[in-house]
Amino acid sequence: MVHFVGAGPGAPDLITLRGAELLKKADVVIYAGSLVNPALLELCRAGAEIFNSARMTLEEVLAVMLRAESEGKTTVRLHTGDPSLYGAIREQMDALERSGIRFEVTPGVSSFCAAAAALEAEYTLPDVSQSLIISRMAGRTPVPEGERIASLAAHGCSMALFLSAGMLDKLQEELLRGAYTDDTPAALVYKASWPDERIVRCTVGTLAAAGAAQDIRKTALVLVGDFLEKEYGRSRLYDPAFSTEFRRGTGDKSEG
Ligand code: SAH
Repeated sequence: MVHFVGAGPGAPDLITLRGAELLKKADVVIYAGSLVNPALLELCRAGAEIFNSARMTLEEVLAVMLRAESEGKTTVRLHTGDPSLYGAIREQMDALERSGIRFEVTPGVSSFCAAAAALEAEYTLPDVSQSLIISRMAGRTPVPEGERIASLAAHGCSMALFLSAGMLDKLQEELLRGAYTDDTPAALVYKASWPDERIVRCTVGTLAAAGAAQDIRKTALVLVGDFLEKEYGRSRLYDPAFSTEFRRGTGDKSEG
């Protein structure tokens, strides 16, 4: 059996209880060494075989899984954050499926959640934005044409940009071609939840300069949008006048 497990954003106690249990019991662990905090490996039992996938190809990773399976062992494939985002797990799952190997996915706390926590921010604010776009700049890995940052930026909603801290000049340009202005608030969150976490608050107009000044080029998220501003509307969910499924409001008769 193979378990794909989300390691969380960095801090070892931000893995889920289920993920930690699986890690403790695993015979074989393949972790994404470029981003997974090695402190998590302290959970592994003595004698567990540990592989760092940063130096491996897909074929090598699969070979380890297949061998472990043939020996009746349990493998944990440890991915950073949540495995469903930029985790390249689909190709692994499909290959396991073809080989008739059972697998399960255990979610994790994505870095975009840890970054919001670090900023004490909420992506979805009434009267500001009710949507979060998760995307990335095209780099050596292409992005479908319809998902260029400039066109996604046309919505002016909250954005969390992965894998783009090394291209802040181009990112800034693309964002400004959308609905954002030089003054739209932005933030760089470097290594959210790690001991060396850093937060840089700036605007879309100063994004590239702020990144250069702080020497942030990787392992960072770029957050953009007016949700980083001070102004917003009050949530109706906790408004005394608003009824919900669980609470009758003083003013409103509809809407759950
Ligand atoms: N599956 C991961 C993302 C992997 S892609 C997740 O859910 O978070 C790798 C990118 O994620 C990095 O380039 C960076 O943009 C972002 N990232 C991962 N961990 C991070 C962290 N602790 N702080 C800030 N950004 C992080």
